[in-house]
Amino acid sequence: MPLTVHQFPCLSDNYGFLARDEATGLAACIDTPDAAAILRELDKLGWKLALILNTHWHPDHAGGNAEVKAATGCAIVGPHEVTRISALDREVHGGDIVELGETRFEVLETGGHTLGHITYSDAADGIAFVGDTLFALGCGRLFEGDAAQMWTSLQRLAALPDDTAVYCAHEYTASNARFALSVDDDPALKRRAEAVFAARERGEPTVPTTIGLEKETNPFLRAPKLAERVGAAGRPDYEAFGAVRSAKDNFKG
Ligand code: ZN
Ligand code: FE
Repeated sequence: MPLTVHQFPCLSDNYGFLARDEATGLAACIDTPDAAAILRELDKLGWKLALILNTHWHPDHAGGNAEVKAATGCAIVGPHEVTRISALDREVHGGDIVELGETRFEVLETGGHTLGHITYSDAADGIAFVGDTLFALGCGRLFEGDAAQMWTSLQRLAALPDDTAVYCAHEYTASNARFALSVDDDPALKRRAEAVFAARERGEPTVPTTIGLEKETNPFLRAPKLAERVGAAGRPDYEAFGAVRSAKDNFKG
């Protein structure tokens, strides 16, 4: 039986995600950007929260842990780094399986944005919660890791099936699209960027995206093809990626 995902905007540009295992009715929330919003959505849906699944330690991802746990009695699962700001009931590492009823999430190590960042991948349903690693047309900033680590993490995500639904934690897509157009003139990117600008005009989310769409149009995944444009011709793939990342960090769009 499938996993149902309920997505809602919160804070200035975060998404909150609640996921319910339909076989058992148990629910998880992926990160805790805004405890009040999460509790309100749970109430509205009538879902019973069993787990918090943290992707990384940043306050807009784990800052609501204590309040959500106090209100629901759920258990908190996450990488060790989350203990910088919250208690954990279970510390997980790459390759671990987290069960939510009949749903099995595999933990993938996707460090780079933070060193211990992880992704929760539900392969049976083709769903991945990627936190701040991969965004629609973007990727997370390298706050703690380096380009080599992030490139490895992005390749790990790119290896998932093309139709995998990618739930990224922020709505950054319009600004990512403006940057993407500055380094890439691929027709598929141009078409997508127009669709993104139109969707945002209408106030519609651009998340989830898919692995296939990101492989086709995301300038960070396409970095080796853009190496010349970003002054990294002939360099290893991770350096081309690093050059695209630096260009985005300095982009005034
Ligand atoms: Zn973050
Ligand atoms: Fe974030």
